[in-house]
Amino acid sequence: LRVVGVHVDISDKKELDNMKSELISTVSHEIRTPLSSVLGFTELLIERDLPEEKRNQYLELIHRESNRLKNLINDFLDIQRIETGGQKLDLAEINLDSIVNEVIELYEIHDDHQFEVEFETEENRVIADYNKIKQVVTNLVSNSVKYSNKGSKILISINSNQERFKIEVKDQGIGIAKEEQKNLFERFYRSRSSTKNQIEGTGLGLAISKKIVAAHGGEIGVESELNEGSIFYFTIPKQIGGGEDG
Ligand code: ADP
Repeated sequence: LRVVGVHVDISDKKELDNMKSELISTVSHEIRTPLSSVLGFTELLIERDLPEEKRNQYLELIHRESNRLKNLINDFLDIQRIETGGQKLDLAEINLDSIVNEVIELYEIHDDHQFEVEFETEENRVIADYNKIKQVVTNLVSNSVKYSNKGSKILISINSNQERFKIEVKDQGIGIAKEEQKNLFERFYRSRSSTKNQIEGTGLGLAISKKIVAAHGGEIGVESELNEGSIFYFTIPKQIGGGEDG
């Protein structure tokens, strides 16, 4: 499924209603596939006397599909909350390198990618919403893991100038064709090569990330070569304020 998101001004009630029904129909459609698998495999498990190996295989599939459902619903709730009500930032002084280190730690346990970090300065403190910025870093890092081969390098760097911090995540993965790059931050958009390679996803992570970064007054973007790799980056201004909300 590939639905290109639409930009709407939510101050318009009719457009808000349209947006809601579009989201509801897309999400119902997305939920139906994993739910059908869960139902199908549980029925087989109930009705048939299967050898242990098959039973375990089906249980694993049920587990995987249920997880997919959970992720989909979480992403959906996030984006819906952001798009309808705006988002409230819980601002405090946060340390960007500890966020990056915490996120990498999580992925280092599960995956055998080679993580490298490059922090230009030692103190990377900024006023921002800790959980939301961590969610953006998690989205970018989990994508770089998901869309590249095991063993390949992932470089995460933080640099700054007078106005802003910039966090970059660089991978050696499948990359994205030039003409598709502008669509990646629209909800539900997935690149051709990610669906061709059957890599699972909802197409919501980057849309959510874009909203979070915008609420902080920053920018999010990508530089990528198909089959070579990608750099996803976002900025956070040192002086927060003046950023659009929502
Ligand atoms: P998904 O859940 O599909 O990964 P995202 O919103 O996080 O959703 O990303 C949208 C799309 O952008 C992905 O489906 C994929 O096509 C592309 N993409 C994101 N990150 C990368 C990456 N590091 N390398 C290649 N493609 C990527």
